[in-house]
Amino acid sequence: MIPSAFDYVRPDSLSDALALLARHRDAAKPMSGGHSLLPMMKLRLAAPDLVVDVNELGELHGITVGRNEVVVGAATTHATLEHHPEVAAALPLMPVVACQIADATVRNRGTLGGSLAHADPSADWPAAMLAQNAVFEVAGSSGSRSIAARDFFKGLFETALQPGELIVAVRIPVAANTRVAYRKFRHPASGYAVVGVAVVLDYDKGRCGGGCIAITGFADHAFRAERAEAELSKHVGEPSHIERLLDLAFDGVAPIEDRFADAEYRLQLARTMLRRALADAQSSFNPARSAA
Ligand SMILES: Cc1cc2nc3c(=O)[nH]c(=O)nc-3n(C[C@H](O)[C@H](O)[C@H](O)COP(=O)(O)OP(=O)(O)OC[C@H]3O[C@@H](n4cnc5c(N)ncnc54)[C@H](O)[C@@H]3O)c2cc1C
Repeated sequence: MIPSAFDYVRPDSLSDALALLARHRDAAKPMSGGHSLLPMMKLRLAAPDLVVDVNELGELHGITVGRNEVVVGAATTHATLEHHPEVAAALPLMPVVACQIADATVRNRGTLGGSLAHADPSADWPAAMLAQNAVFEVAGSSGSRSIAARDFFKGLFETALQPGELIVAVRIPVAANTRVAYRKFRHPASGYAVVGVAVVLDYDKGRCGGGCIAITGFADHAFRAERAEAELSKHVGEPSHIERLLDLAFDGVAPIEDRFADAEYRLQLARTMLRRALADAQSSFNPARSAA
C-alpha cells in the first residue's frame, strides 16, 4: 500500500497547471481531493512521476447560482454541495446525491471534478450530471471546450478528456417544474453504488411531460435510459406501465458483474432502484419551486 516514488507540485494558476500537464504528458496526473488518485497510486494502478495538485486553484472554485443555470467549480467538495442552500433550491437533486456519497470524511475532501474525471462506473455524480443535462467546461494548454455529460463518459474509467486537460467547472441548467430523486443500493463495504438511479421528471400543470433517467453502477459507465425516458410522459403510475419502463431502461445494456453482484442480481437491484426512484420523484412535489 505504498505508492511508487513521485514528485509533487502545487502550481499557482490554472495556466501553470496546464503547462505542467502538457510538458509532462502521461507522466503527470492532476490531483484534486486525492480520494481516488491516492488509493489508485497505493495499489500501483497509477504510478505518475509527477502529481500536480490543482485543489487550491482559484479558477476551479466558486459556485454561481443564476436564474437559468448553476456553475460549480470543479474543485468544489461533495460536502459543499450537500450543504449549499442556494444550490439545493435551484437543483434539488444535488444534495440528495451528495449526502449519499461515502461518508463525511470522503465528502469533505473529494470533489465534483475529480469524481467526474475519474469516471468510476459506480460513482454517484455521473448519474446526477447525466440526469440534469450538465455540461463540463474543460481547459487544456491549447484552449478550452465544453463537453456535454452525455458525450463525456465513454467506458470503464474512460472519458472524453484528452491528456493534459482539466475540468474547470460544471454548468447545470435550472428547470423550475421538476421532481427529482436518487435511489442507490450501497455496496456494504465501500459505500459506492452497486446500482444508483437518478430521475428528473418535468411537470406541467400537475402532469409529467417527460424527463431524464440516468443509471450508474449497472454498466461499465453511467448512461441515460433513453428508451424508458421516451415513455415517461405516459407515466401515470399503473403497474403495467412501470414494468414496461423497467424493461426498456435496461434492455440491451450489458451489466457488469463482480463478487458482490452477478448480472441477474444487479439487474434485479437496478429495476427495484428505478421503480423506487420514480415513486420518490413523483411524490417529491415542492410548491416553493413549482407553479405546476
Ligand atoms: C473510502 C471511499 C469511499 C468512497 N465512496 C464513494 C461513493 O460512495 N460514491 C462516489 O461517487 N465516490 C466514492 N468515493 C470516491 C470519492 O468520491 C472521490 O473523492 C472521487 O471519486 C474523486 O474525487 P477527488 O477530488 O478525490 O479526485 P482525485 O482523487 O484527486 O482524482 C481522481 C482522478 O481525476 C483526475 N482529476 C482530478 N481532478 C481533476 C480535474 N479537475 N480535471 C481533470 N482530471 C482531474 C485525477 O488525475 C485522477 O485521475 C469513495 C472514495 C473513498 C476513498
